[in-house]
Amino acid sequence: MNVGALLERTASFQGARPALAIGQNTVATYAEMRDQARHLAGGLVDELGLVPGDRCGIAMTNTPEIMVVMFACWYANIAAVPMNAKLHRREFAYILENCGARACFLNGKLGDTLMGLEREVASLAHLINVDEPTYTHLLEASPRELADAAPEDPAWLFYTSGTTGRPKGATLSHRNLVSMTMNYFCDVDTVNEKDAWIHSAPMTHGSGLYGVPFVARGALQVVPESGGFEPGETLDLISHYEGASFFFAPTMIVRLLEDPRIATANTSNLKTIVYGGGPMYVEDTLRALDRLGPKLVQIYGQGEAPMTITGLTREMHIDTGHPRYLERLGSVGPARTDVEVRIVDENDKPVPVGGIGEIVLRGDVVMQGYWENPEANARTLAGGWLHTGDLGALDEEGFVTLKDRSKDMIISGGTNIYPREVEEVLLQHPQVLEVSVIGKPHPEWGEDVLAYVVPTAGAELSEAELDALCLEHIARFKRPKHYRFIESLPKNNYGKVLKTELRAQLEAETNEEVHRG
Ligand code: AMP
Repeated sequence: MNVGALLERTASFQGARPALAIGQNTVATYAEMRDQARHLAGGLVDELGLVPGDRCGIAMTNTPEIMVVMFACWYANIAAVPMNAKLHRREFAYILENCGARACFLNGKLGDTLMGLEREVASLAHLINVDEPTYTHLLEASPRELADAAPEDPAWLFYTSGTTGRPKGATLSHRNLVSMTMNYFCDVDTVNEKDAWIHSAPMTHGSGLYGVPFVARGALQVVPESGGFEPGETLDLISHYEGASFFFAPTMIVRLLEDPRIATANTSNLKTIVYGGGPMYVEDTLRALDRLGPKLVQIYGQGEAPMTITGLTREMHIDTGHPRYLERLGSVGPARTDVEVRIVDENDKPVPVGGIGEIVLRGDVVMQGYWENPEANARTLAGGWLHTGDLGALDEEGFVTLKDRSKDMIISGGTNIYPREVEEVLLQHPQVLEVSVIGKPHPEWGEDVLAYVVPTAGAELSEAELDALCLEHIARFKRPKHYRFIESLPKNNYGKVLKTELRAQLEAETNEEVHRG
């Protein structure tokens, strides 16, 4: 089935319900959103000459039009290629070239960033700014009925966030997106037409993907006026919208909890914060539960398997009587209902319960493959299992605990040290706001543990007290031998901490020392 059918269905019997809003103002009902999608699909085909199977870029900051453009693409069975608005011009060019996009929609300042790209990217014939009359003109084209789409036809090319190397286009089919949608209702949360899905996180990533289940249920999609995440505005939107739900990176939850306004804000309207995309530390989860109540659902997923592979339900977050409650909170939960998850060694053989290995999975949510990249596909989809590149372990109840990506693991004196474990301990210190642990090259041991620590405002932290905390909780060899106190951690456009950048900083620092020394 074409994933666009979800909008068709909602508009047919909930057409008068509000579909899209900016801040507190509704800008389209479901009937209007469906009509716009139909007309724009007509514009894509009849005016711009795109055909089913073509690719169409979306280079936009958060705006309701993203939903319209995406559904218009699906109505014409064209694959949408949403890209993070903060990318560099060269990165946009690379992605558009890589997927052979024929057209690309953009908004606001992205007009300047992408100007003239049609002359550089061979396949690209049209750049359409949704803030300009060319877009309005396309919306006046003859409407098109929803196209037929085979389940495996590409619907969304998800270019991996690329904390390393060149981004690859995880090709998500119509079946993948329908499977993701059904799974939201099955394992993540219930949704009804009175709920509001608030896009504080980029719509070209997780927040947009999870917008689809909210379309399927006729709920409202809200784009904050700031277009992103401002803690004060987020709190205002929560108090305005009943059933307010979000997708947050864990770092956004921390920022919300740190905002002084949270002390007096009325958060009773908050329904659910779905969080994931990076590690959430137990201390932060406990703080969030304490302040916000039982409103958290964790997902662990990747662009190659949206949005989840495993998840920690709302109930698991508050099952305080469970003998392994805290251990479970530090995990990413069991496999979602419709996937099989295994932990395998380097020969793809399952490892015994408790053993650490690569997390692999199979099921209807697994991407078709990376766009035109047979080499990466042979490796990543070997034996019909998606190889996540994440290290983890399964316990006897099927809960998965992540052990960092293989490249983040520290090897000191031949022993593996998982940064996450050390980070969890350091975060227990009330004056530690954020932390990231990496390996520092050491001539004898291979690597030493180094912790980058962001103290809370005005706090004066000493290495000695952090060292004492580590000695209390973890083996001596795991505790950091070096500390760096910094004001903030480098993060990518999705709020993920960039350990690659910390390693580069460290390398520059070391070279300087060598130079001086
Ligand atoms: P992306 O494809 O940009 O969504 O990034 C996916 C990667 O983010 C995964 O392979 C994990 O390394 C990491 N990740 C996703 N969810 C979680 C989570 N709940 N906890 C820790 N890391 C996560």
